[in-house]
Formats: sequence, structure tokens, C-alpha cells
Amino acid sequence: MSIIENLTRLKSEIPDHVKLIAVSKTMPPGDILVAYETGHRRFGENKVQELSSKYPVLPADIQWHFIGHLQTNKVKQIVQFVHMIESVDSFKLLKEIQKQAEKTDRVVNCLLQFHIAEEESKFGLDLEEATAILTSPELATWKHIRLCGVMGMATYTEDMAHVRREFNHLKQIFRTLKVSYFQATDSFSEISMGMSGDFREAIDEGSTIVRIGSLIFGERNYKTSS
Ligand SMILES: *Cc1c(COP(=O)(O)O)cnc(C)c1O
Repeated sequence: MSIIENLTRLKSEIPDHVKLIAVSKTMPPGDILVAYETGHRRFGENKVQELSSKYPVLPADIQWHFIGHLQTNKVKQIVQFVHMIESVDSFKLLKEIQKQAEKTDRVVNCLLQFHIAEEESKFGLDLEEATAILTSPELATWKHIRLCGVMGMATYTEDMAHVRREFNHLKQIFRTLKVSYFQATDSFSEISMGMSGDFREAIDEGSTIVRIGSLIFGERNYKTSS
């Protein structure tokens, strides 16, 4: 199957209210261009260095979503052009995004990443940590970030009932935060969950953004990527 066929098939399956992020990590710019030329504009990358090297050689109207763990000292390398940082997992990181975005006079869309999986390795906040961020008096003064919702990754397992419970948990977190802190704003509206192996379950559970890589571009070969 080609990238174009994969994208077309996926788009026929994903409802209109759900945004598809084509996760292009490890894939060459040529593959991204193939998808771009079908009209697709939203792409996802998880490494600062890789995104920084792809950005200048690809069309400027691509909306880049950053979906990997982001170190505060690397924020400035992507802040000028990134459309959304989906992986905000600390107060310190959010503060740095605000600071760097202010310097370039941009407003950067952000999602709070939650730890919903069983695996220890996955990054993310819990409700208590998110509450500490959202109740911080400083937050109201930060005009260069826009909190748009939540992101999470489910446990990597065949047990789809388990995966659904984790997605449902993220949706409950979203609702709790929305009611408590975002009553007055429409911009807090996104739930980013679902990848190649679990996007159908995620959409059933209320996802508004799915991040799909291998179903579009094929399996990743990490040996030849840097
Ligand atoms: C790689 C990645 C994806 C896409 O994974 P696939 O299984 O290839 O669809 C989605 N989200 C994040 C955070 C990723 O790192």
C-alpha cells in the first residue's frame, strides 16, 4: 500500500470532527511531501533535532505538532514555528514555552500530557500535578500559551478493553478540567488519543485528535534513523 492509499483509506474512516496528525518521525521529507501533496497539512514529530531539520526543507503551511518529550532547553529551537506542543508534562516546561513564545511574539497551542498507561516509562502528569499548574497565579498572566486540551497514550497491549478504560479515564480528566478551569473558554476542546493500533477505540471514547504514523508511512526502521 502507498502513502496516498493509506491516507485516503484512513480519512474515509475517521469522522470529520477528529483531526488526523500524520506522525512522520523517522520518515524522510520526501515521504512527508507525498502526503502533503494530497492536501494533508498536520504532521507530528517527537524529536527536536529531527523536526528542526525537516521544517526548513518543507512547505511553510504545514502545521507541526510536537508529540515527544520536550526538554526545556530545547523549546527555543521549535517555538517559532510549531503549531501545537502536545506533550506539556511540567510547570517548568509550560513556563519556558511562555517565555520563548513571548520573545517571538507568538501564541503556542499546548496540550497537557497525562500519564494514563500502566507502563512506567511513559511521561505525563497526574490530576494533582495538572491542578497545581492550572491553579497557579502565574498562569493567568501568560499570554503566549493557549491551553487547548489533553493528550495521552494508552498501554501497549492487545487487551482492548483495558485500552478503552484508559482512554475513558483521559476523557474524564478532560471533563473535570474543563468544568473546573475552562468554563469561560471554547479553546480547551481537544482530547488527543489514539495511534495506529488503537485509534478506533480512541475515537469511540471521545478522541478529537488521533496521531497515526505506521498505518500511513509503514513500519519505522529505527536502525537507519538518527
Ligand atoms: C510514534 C507516536 C505515535 C504514532 O505511532 P504509530 O503506532 O506509528 O501510529 C503517536 N503518538 C506518539 C506520542 C508517538 O510517539
